[in-house]
Amino acid sequence: MQRKIIGKGLRLSLRHAPCAHICRYCLISESRKRSALPFARFERLVHRFFDWKEQAGRDDLEIGTFVGPSFDYDVETLHGVGRLRARRGGRFQILNLGGIRMRRDEALVAWIEERQAAGITGFHASLAGCGETHDRWNGRAGDFDYQTTMLRLGGERGMAHRYRLFITQSTLPLFDRLLDILDTIPGDTGHRIATPFFYAGLARRYEDERITEDDRDALPGRVRSLPLGKFRDWRSEREWIPIMMETADRPRRLILKLDVDETNIDRLEAMACEDIYAERERLYQESYVGVPPLEELCARYGDPENRRVYMLSRDVEGRWLDLHQRATGTKPPLD
Ligand code: SF4
Repeated sequence: MQRKIIGKGLRLSLRHAPCAHICRYCLISESRKRSALPFARFERLVHRFFDWKEQAGRDDLEIGTFVGPSFDYDVETLHGVGRLRARRGGRFQILNLGGIRMRRDEALVAWIEERQAAGITGFHASLAGCGETHDRWNGRAGDFDYQTTMLRLGGERGMAHRYRLFITQSTLPLFDRLLDILDTIPGDTGHRIATPFFYAGLARRYEDERITEDDRDALPGRVRSLPLGKFRDWRSEREWIPIMMETADRPRRLILKLDVDETNIDRLEAMACEDIYAERERLYQESYVGVPPLEELCARYGDPENRRVYMLSRDVEGRWLDLHQRATGTKPPLD
């Protein structure tokens, strides 16, 4: 029997600001591509979805956006992204530094101060080790120094810093050095989360870099005391399997994604939000035709000996779907 899919919301994405990194663990394909669609037209469409959610009383739905792949926005876009964030009751104050173009000296200071004047109160950096190790993971020589320079310049101006620190076999031995460097950046030190890679995008190629149950259970004190972020149940595949099997017959609830660009905007503008949502849900459902139910995937591809650690059960399922594709040629479903 086919797995039932239920949308729990919609994430509308626009490729607006190309990325200047080439991360080896990137979740996004073609991160250097930019859509020709003006941001203002995308913003109008997203506001229409927020209006629909309110008018239809769809409190059960989460409407989200991703304007990327980098946050290297002009000031006008910064404000527009802020308006969209406000529709969700939040504020856009922390700017992600992943994929920001290199700027030097006065140009960099001016860029930071312009963002601060536009309401940005802090920066977020994703770091994979430090020095050359980070540079290699992020595909840009000198990137670790550049990230820490931006964080330091921000810190000196009273801006906050937030971090995602990737734990892999190659970055784990560098954590002491990395934390020592971060400790020298002015500002609070309480917002550092440590995580393994998601099993998605290019990061699927680095299973050998995953930490194991043994690594997880023997993390050095300084690393163990870091917050683990939203997904804190780091389990190996052998630990995930019984948990996944308890709920294997339940429908999969997921955020539906919709890439908006110059090729589909006319059609989307002409359609009712309800119809767009229903169409997305149907396409997701159809993409599961031919995909075995979870128990069967597990029976065929599950590895009860695998002690590598994953943040989400979805990561483990993603591994099984890849193995299924290799074995049968069946394309993985939309995710
Ligand atoms: S900064 Fe983000 S979008 Fe750019 S390559 Fe790295 S992971 Fe991908």
